[in-house]
Amino acid sequence: MKPIFFAIFSFLILSCNGNAQDSKTQKIYPVSKTEAEWKAELSPAAYHVLREKGTERAFSSRLNRIEEPGIFVCAACGNELYKTQHKFESGTGWPSFDRPINEANVDYRPDRTGGFPATEVVCAQCGGHLGHVFNDGPKKTTGKRHCINGVAMDFVPYSQ
Ligand code: FE
Repeated sequence: MKPIFFAIFSFLILSCNGNAQDSKTQKIYPVSKTEAEWKAELSPAAYHVLREKGTERAFSSRLNRIEEPGIFVCAACGNELYKTQHKFESGTGWPSFDRPINEANVDYRPDRTGGFPATEVVCAQCGGHLGHVFNDGPKKTTGKRHCINGVAMDFVPYSQ
């Protein structure tokens, strides 16, 4: 009798966890589309990063080299994410910023998928994965390093 009780108890606990996880990952964002719709709209590389939490190859994005004033927007929904004035050369091979354009425009989630505790940065408007934020950014400003996949963003120069 006891093992059966334990099995049922375990099942209930696991179910609860499962539900909690689902409600978290299924947060409804203002811009919500089916995975099929995202797949049809985004390039395969952008889809992999934004919707499957992929990471682009270091030094592969043309956005690494951008120095002209402008705004980096979400490649999926156009949400304004970062400004050139907050960009810095981190040497990592990914576009890096010491802060978002507005804290309300991004969302943070704990992420352990890399084998160590990290903080994932997602677009607050569509929930797309952007990258991660670390505490080894420029000490003279915020101390934060937003390590963002270039393929998850488009650059809009101010002059445009
Ligand atoms: Fe977005």
